[in-house]
Amino acid sequence: MWPAKEKGFMTFKRELPANVPVDERVKSFKEFTTSLPEIRIREQAYRCMNCGVPFCHSGCPLANQIPDFNDALKNNNWREALAILHSTNNFPEITGRVCPAPCETSCVLGINEPPVAIEYIEREIVERGWREGWIAPQPPRTRTGKSVAVVGSGPAGLAAAQQLNRAGHEVTVFERDDEPGGLLMYGIPGFKLDKAILKRRLDQIRAEGVRFQCGAWIGKDVPVRELDMFDAVLLTVGSTKARTLDIPGANLNGIHLAMDFLPQQTRRLLGKDIQGPEISAKDKNVVVIGGGDTGSDCVGTAIRQGAAQVVSLEIMPRPPLDRDASTPWPLWPYMLRTSSSHEEGGTRDWSVLTKEFTGEAGKLKQLHCVRVEWAKDASGRMKMEEIPGSDFFLDCDLALLALGFLHPEHETAVRELGLELDSRGNIKTGSNFETSRPRVFAAGDARRGQSLVVWAIREGREAARCLDLALMGFSNLPSLASYGYDALAE
Ligand SMILES: Cc1cc2nc3c(=O)[nH]c(=O)nc-3n(C[C@H](O)[C@H](O)[C@H](O)COP(=O)(O)OP(=O)(O)OC[C@H]3O[C@@H](n4cnc5c(N)ncnc54)[C@H](O)[C@@H]3O)c2cc1C
Ligand code: SF4
Repeated sequence: MWPAKEKGFMTFKRELPANVPVDERVKSFKEFTTSLPEIRIREQAYRCMNCGVPFCHSGCPLANQIPDFNDALKNNNWREALAILHSTNNFPEITGRVCPAPCETSCVLGINEPPVAIEYIEREIVERGWREGWIAPQPPRTRTGKSVAVVGSGPAGLAAAQQLNRAGHEVTVFERDDEPGGLLMYGIPGFKLDKAILKRRLDQIRAEGVRFQCGAWIGKDVPVRELDMFDAVLLTVGSTKARTLDIPGANLNGIHLAMDFLPQQTRRLLGKDIQGPEISAKDKNVVVIGGGDTGSDCVGTAIRQGAAQVVSLEIMPRPPLDRDASTPWPLWPYMLRTSSSHEEGGTRDWSVLTKEFTGEAGKLKQLHCVRVEWAKDASGRMKMEEIPGSDFFLDCDLALLALGFLHPEHETAVRELGLELDSRGNIKTGSNFETSRPRVFAAGDARRGQSLVVWAIREGREAARCLDLALMGFSNLPSLASYGYDALAE
């Protein structure tokens, strides 16, 4: 007997399926999430109160219609739930795995109860869709005769390519790597996002008619003039210029960028050649410098490779355990985040400044650190000061730099196309995603700066609509504007 539709939260507690235990899961690079029985998934949907003003919906950058798909599940209509999910999100199987779920931190139930398990429900709906064969290629009925080049095949490029192709344009995606997917393929590790999940969606996109040219580095191996044959170009080249650490000893052997380390492991798992010298954490004292998703992915990967120990360092102070008063509901909370990789081992330390790498015979051996204190200066800006006498030394024969990304690379496509940049070095666009060069558009991390998968999908979808409008004078593609959102806001 089900409770009244809007009162399920009084009967059912938030429940997520247990992950594979740590001891077991670190033995492989496989995904480690499990599923609840169908009835218990529907119980979770029943916890949704179908609020008059659903804050979850505006918390999601894609404006996913969360109360609507929960309602469909309450009615046991999984196929309808899937259609609702796909109406705003091209890749729910990906956000359902890796999204930090800002929807959940703005869920109204979350004010005084654990929020609705939105991300988990999303994953179960879409996985049911794949199992049942409900997700099939949707090629356009007619072609417009227009062609579009998409440069870069991360989530922004893939979402845009799928939307533009469905609008009837001939779409070719150029990707410099040997496989499409961007950071979904070679950034996010397989234990968070199995590459078979990505390939399943890529097969659908290909079957709809999108062409992929991999190993095509625009502005380097492939001159930008080859893009002239297209009616429009969309640059979704990501924010790939990594921040480095310019301290003494930084040229010692054993110091690597996270994005030199992580792709190698995925290539190994896919049976591909490793490019450049092999980087392995096996039996090493590993220090991961920098928190965030990238740092935590390095931790999980190093543990699985058999590191002797893993230490994560963060220059910022340790955030509070609960939502900080400066970020009240429904804002994205400033608070400590503990990823599944952090649960798997290693230690974390905050307010630590790295001073110098030292080594022997050119090989990294130690990291010299000092503790810092953060305080506001006269202008109210946070400033750090070293704490005298707080120096310490860490044994370290592999240092992984996960310090974030500055902006897209400027040396190739961006420079060759002569594009204007914004003050942070990202590609500058107008409100319709068009760059300083007519008929050349940009979206995703390359335009917005380092961000999240859910934002990249949003940018790809919105840019596709603007580009379609520019080519055709009208567009039937969906847009956030139809829900009263400004696509470039936030
Ligand atoms: C290690 C790591 C883990 C992350 N984990 C998460 C997570 O768990 N959850 C989350 O939401 N976000 C995560 N992120 C962030 C997220 O992956 C990015 O915000 C998102 O992938 C950006 O998408 P994009 O399409 O703009 O660019 P990208 O995914 O970076 O794709 C850009 C593509 O363009 C290609 N390219 C670049 N220049 C050229 C050129 N000139 N010619 C041809 N191709 C080119 C690149 O090879 C790349 O494939 C993570 C990021 C990293 C680095
Ligand atoms: S995409 Fe992310 S923010 Fe949007 S509903 Fe799914 S988990 Fe929530």
